[in-house]
Amino acid sequence: MTDYYDRGIETLPRVQLEELQNQRIRALVRELTTNQFYQEKSRAGGIDLADIESADDLRNLPFTTKQELVDDQTNHPPFGRLLTYPVSRYRYFHQTSGTTGRPLKWLDTEESWQWWTWCWSYVYRAAGVTSDDVVFCAFSFGPYISHWTAIAGAWDVGAMCTSGGGMNSEQRLRSIIENRATVIVCTPTYALHLAEVASQLGIDLRSSPVRVGIHAGEPGASLPNVKRAIETAWGATCYDHAGATEAGAWAFDCEAQTGAIHLNEAEFNFEVIDPETENPIGEGQPGELVITNLGRAGMPVLRYRTGDLVEVTTEPCPCGRSFTRIRGGVVGRADDMIIVRGVNIYPSAIDDLIRGVPTISEYEVNIRRVSGLDDLLIKIEVIGAKFDEAARALTHAFRNQFSIRVSIEYALTGSLPRYEFKSRRFKRLS
Ligand SMILES: [Zn+2]
Repeated sequence: MTDYYDRGIETLPRVQLEELQNQRIRALVRELTTNQFYQEKSRAGGIDLADIESADDLRNLPFTTKQELVDDQTNHPPFGRLLTYPVSRYRYFHQTSGTTGRPLKWLDTEESWQWWTWCWSYVYRAAGVTSDDVVFCAFSFGPYISHWTAIAGAWDVGAMCTSGGGMNSEQRLRSIIENRATVIVCTPTYALHLAEVASQLGIDLRSSPVRVGIHAGEPGASLPNVKRAIETAWGATCYDHAGATEAGAWAFDCEAQTGAIHLNEAEFNFEVIDPETENPIGEGQPGELVITNLGRAGMPVLRYRTGDLVEVTTEPCPCGRSFTRIRGGVVGRADDMIIVRGVNIYPSAIDDLIRGVPTISEYEVNIRRVSGLDDLLIKIEVIGAKFDEAARALTHAFRNQFSIRVSIEYALTGSLPRYEFKSRRFKRLS
């Protein structure tokens, strides 16, 4: 049976779904009369925010970029001019992980926080999580918003939550087993790392009660080989989802497990553009996702360029939701592409290829510049003493998939870094 968070809204016919979005857009722009950032931005674009009545009208507003937000907070410390209300109305402070530069601070009002929680509730309900579940959040619980909203969303669907903050991997595994967690929430990288530690400790995760893994923070849970590796190790179904501090939790996987995940069109308006020309891109081709969140008036983003590359499909999903889907989740980031001997490759595709060789337990990709071209040196740790076999399989996979030759190097077991949050396995050497 398919589980929904809000069946009525999730199965709305397209026309009504679009009307619902338009209503939300009108309500949002009416609230933004005191939002200096967007008042100024719309004036600079030659339009009046109050004139926006629909998703079509919204397209007249210039895009918002991350750099603009960073500059705004730098020039107007500490919180910038994106706040719609006086600071006293905000209760929740978070900041971005800052993997691509200076962290952005983000404030939420009680209403905006509630909205974030609902967005996560869609994620949980679509994965069949209910009040019968015990959710384990394998996070550090630092200032990154998804750690806290993940737990708030789980409470919202009635589940019991256990925090993995302040624990090492072994302590987390013991907590999962002892407290009979049925759902684990973490990055795909960390799910694989926990599985590796479990196997070293002789813990059989497949016989644990964990039946659902909810994974985000990086591409992976929609990549067939990564998904298979996680599901095999945990004996659980792996659900992908996507979100960002600036935007919210904007996509989720459903029980139909189609390899394409749903965009939450009840809470967001989406566009896909060519990152170079900024022209709209239709179904079936990858493009950059642009997001307007419809329920976070306190500190909203309108036409925000996420940098995430997605490929939309409007094919109906067997789960019955009318929300559009994106094939393979987030396939990469526009600025992450590597060009090896004329072939464009995203790190997620390499990750999937390497996870297709089950004896490789960890890896690191060094991108070297050789005679003006990118060249890949891949260091691998292999389970058992089967380096030659694994290296041969990987060489073959790269030749088959991308028609390129890569260098493969042996790494001692345990010598490569492990990651609890977003992995940094791709290193560009100068
Ligand atoms: Zn579905």
